[in-house]
Amino acid sequence: MKNYDLIIVGAGVTGLASAMYAGRLNLKTLVIGTNSSNELPIGGVITLTEVVENYPGFIKLTGSELAENIRKHALDYKDNVSIEEDLVLDVKKYGNCFSVSTKSGKKYLTKTVLFATGTKWRKLQMKGAKEFESKGVHYCSLCDGALFKNKIVAVIGGSDSAAKEALLSSEYAKKVYIIYRGEKIRPEPINEERIKRNKKIIVITNTNILEIKGGKFVTHVVLDKKYNRSNILMLDGVFGAIGSDPLSGLAKKLGIKINDKKEIIINHATSKTNVKGVYAAGDVADKEFKQAITGVAEGVTATYSAYKYINENNLICTT
Ligand code: NAP
Repeated sequence: MKNYDLIIVGAGVTGLASAMYAGRLNLKTLVIGTNSSNELPIGGVITLTEVVENYPGFIKLTGSELAENIRKHALDYKDNVSIEEDLVLDVKKYGNCFSVSTKSGKKYLTKTVLFATGTKWRKLQMKGAKEFESKGVHYCSLCDGALFKNKIVAVIGGSDSAAKEALLSSEYAKKVYIIYRGEKIRPEPINEERIKRNKKIIVITNTNILEIKGGKFVTHVVLDKKYNRSNILMLDGVFGAIGSDPLSGLAKKLGIKINDKKEIIINHATSKTNVKGVYAAGDVADKEFKQAITGVAEGVTATYSAYKYINENNLICTT
């Protein structure tokens, strides 16, 4: 079994940045990634963001560029850091250390573990959502928005993610509805302004979609409230942007405390969980403001905590 100081589960920007810092601290580090649920490449969910303009040092770049920069930065410490494209199936206590097994049949030993597993998109639940998935029901404008050139789409949700999905969709579609169940959508002010200025985007509030209907592809939705005197809204596509659930199942199995939102509970000064030698960072951790920059900060904090823990306890893992 290969032996590591730190195994990072998850290869999004949080995991990759944590590995970069671990490399600097001379920790023998393995990042294991690919997001099983969203089937994302190394780089994680940010690779599906077209424009990132809130990561310091880069006024504007794509999510893929940011992830790739951080990946390269981590691998610059090639003597200490490696990245495996694989899926972690289990993390178990093993003496003072942990064993990590993967889908490809590999097994590793490590002194510390960092969960940077991120989240999984919440799927729409109304009638028709499953039936029409990929046939007009989608979850990523960057991936599928171009299918709706000169067509009509709706984005479901009222957060900044919904706003960003709508703005991106409007680059292809001729009309974009944002359908929100609440009183007022709440994007970041800069995106709220962009929505207001965008003539293709129409916001419908206090409204839910009851059913998505069509033939081979989506043709219309049924609303629970009349819009323009009808409950039927003709459109070609529906993009769900109703949030995401933390991927904390592996951590829970290991005895890590999670909250009622399934987020891993961490100490925000150290990124420690309730189990010694185990840390969490990024969107899987318990915090309100989930951004690349906050995840990266928690991740490097976790790395530093792991470094201190290993040195203070003189840990040795033996098979
Ligand atoms: P979110 O902030 O939880 O927003 C989810 C939205 O979907 C809310 O408007 C919510 O309505 C609505 N919603 C939830 N369930 C629904 C349902 N069953 N039917 C209709 N509408 C429903 O999720 P998020 O936008 O993914 O953001 C989560 C965190 O990640 C935030 O801190 C965000 O800043 C951060 N983040 C996300 C991304 C991304 O691309 N997803 C990128 C960077 C950062 P209510 O308002 O009524 O609850």
